[in-house]
Amino acid sequence: MDEAIRIYSRTLALDLRQFALKRSDMRYSQAFIPTVKETPSDADTISHKLMLRAGLIRKLSSGVYEWLPLGLRVLKKVEQIIREEMDAVGGHELLMPAILPKELWEETGRWNVYGKELFRLKDRADREFCLGPTHEEIITDIIRRDVRSYKQLPLMLYQFQTKFRDEIRPRFGVMRAKEFYMKDAYSFHATDEDAEKYYQIVYDAYSKICKRCGFKFSVVEAATGAIGGSFSHEFMVLAETGEEEIVSCDCGYGANVEKAECQREESASWRREKREEGQKLEEIHTPNMKTVEEVGEFLKEKPENFIKTLIYLSDNKPVMVLVRGNCEINEEKLKNFLKCNELILADSKTVEKITGAPVGFAGPANPAQKSKSAEEQKVEILADYSVEGIVNGVSGANKKDYHLKNMNIGRDYKPSQTADLRKVKRGDKCPRCKKHELKFSRGIEVGHTFKLGTKYSKSMDATFLDEKGKKNHFIMGCYGIGVSRIVAAAIEQSNDDNGIVWNESLAPYRVVIVPIAYEGKVKEVSDKIYARLRQPEDRSGGDVLLDDRNERAGVKFKDADLLGIPVRITVSEKTLKENKVEVKYRNQNTTELTDIEKLLSKIK
Ligand code: ATP
Ligand code: MG
Repeated sequence: MDEAIRIYSRTLALDLRQFALKRSDMRYSQAFIPTVKETPSDADTISHKLMLRAGLIRKLSSGVYEWLPLGLRVLKKVEQIIREEMDAVGGHELLMPAILPKELWEETGRWNVYGKELFRLKDRADREFCLGPTHEEIITDIIRRDVRSYKQLPLMLYQFQTKFRDEIRPRFGVMRAKEFYMKDAYSFHATDEDAEKYYQIVYDAYSKICKRCGFKFSVVEAATGAIGGSFSHEFMVLAETGEEEIVSCDCGYGANVEKAECQREESASWRREKREEGQKLEEIHTPNMKTVEEVGEFLKEKPENFIKTLIYLSDNKPVMVLVRGNCEINEEKLKNFLKCNELILADSKTVEKITGAPVGFAGPANPAQKSKSAEEQKVEILADYSVEGIVNGVSGANKKDYHLKNMNIGRDYKPSQTADLRKVKRGDKCPRCKKHELKFSRGIEVGHTFKLGTKYSKSMDATFLDEKGKKNHFIMGCYGIGVSRIVAAAIEQSNDDNGIVWNESLAPYRVVIVPIAYEGKVKEVSDKIYARLRQPEDRSGGDVLLDDRNERAGVKFKDADLLGIPVRITVSEKTLKENKVEVKYRNQNTTELTDIEKLLSKIK
């Protein structure tokens, strides 16, 4: 009986091996690589165009894509690089479901907070679920059920999974999709120090992943958004076409513009000490002039001397926010400052109710007795630091067609608080070294690491017993990386007029053999090189594609370039006369003739 099982399993293993070999037999004529010549009209970035043209992906509907075999090969390579680096820092892979019950999301309050980006659905019994956009709730639930003691910590778990987010504007192909492939990792610690130490280890692992993908990248401080927590970093692949704007300084500071800190300016009182006197407040008729530009031109005042006044609704409560006329409010900073869930600009009706004037004439003070000032209405006035330095400024008068001149902080208006609430702008100095001007550039966010702290463990009451037998909430970190976005980012950063230029680590095939007319001696030599490259002991040679199609040389070269395969070996009758083949690297323009025997031994 035992013998029978042994023989059976050996045959099965052999069968499987043959099957595996057959599957990896990559003759172009047998492969499914539907390339297209024309540039697809609805593709909005280079990577999106090239992914469609090279037959890596196809669109099923807005923000939803199919991964064709060639694309999937790349996706799997990225996945493997990430897996190796996660295992190297002690991660354990698991797989959580994509259909997630509402109850867990209610425990953290995110069922409401997440808004329209969350795909929600019901089962036949009318129970509510969502399709997972991220998995903090689920992992915290797993841990609170099965981890009881500090002895089981630290613990890091990760998964590769399809994520669902109903993005407001899906675009750039798989870069911002409604369904995408992510690696998300979560770590649990007994102490804050341990969590921070481990955060740095994952940070380094993420840098390694970016290096292994061949990226030019930058790591920046970032806003924590819907995931929350105490601080976070984004891993940005540098590209002109990137969605994210980032600032950096030679001193090492780097941040997403959403997060970048602004230095506090010198205040008005400081400037008054230097004898810049506050002049008499004046009301000026400014018929139909609503913008800083219009009023500025009329009064011959520079935008930086304006106190721009905006009315926001912070969880439905109105708040007046002031910023210097040449600056803009950073809504992410404002939201964090107000600690609100929803922040929107007030509609014109609300503005009118609060200022007594139509939109365009709001200001922080109101000497006109008839209409009610913001203070009288008890609307909180917040000011960005930039406003503190304005002496004899201009603002709306809270009265239709009127503005105020010579507004001075402390004398004519009193914000209840001042804070860093504005966006960085060109010309700003670095908030760290305070010496150099910040540099602006663009990037694609491929990864995001978060120091979560106890945000989820507290709201879900996930605890462990420490050495003294005392209950504590887990300290958490979470670390996401967009596997599918990395594929697009790699192409966005590395391409030319002819197509994709893959870094070797991500290429779907490392080598393409191009026989010029696949027959006779050319076929014989091509097959030999192909077989040699595919021998299991030569897997180091990588995956190889044999272009055995009955096509003209020009067509084959064009496709090899479009697919971006790093090494092209051309076999033709002409070079065979000298016993040579031509080798060309995709990232170089020159070709070299190589001795066949030498090539084969080089491969070995
Ligand atoms: P973004 O600011 O680009 O919306 P995010 O902060 O919402 O990103 P995270 O929640 O941190 O993203 O997700 C981790 C990673 O998942 C991101 O760094 C990114 O690489 C990837 N990712 C996020 N949203 C998408 C999407 N819609 N399509 C493809 N990849 C995405
Ligand atoms: Mg997002």
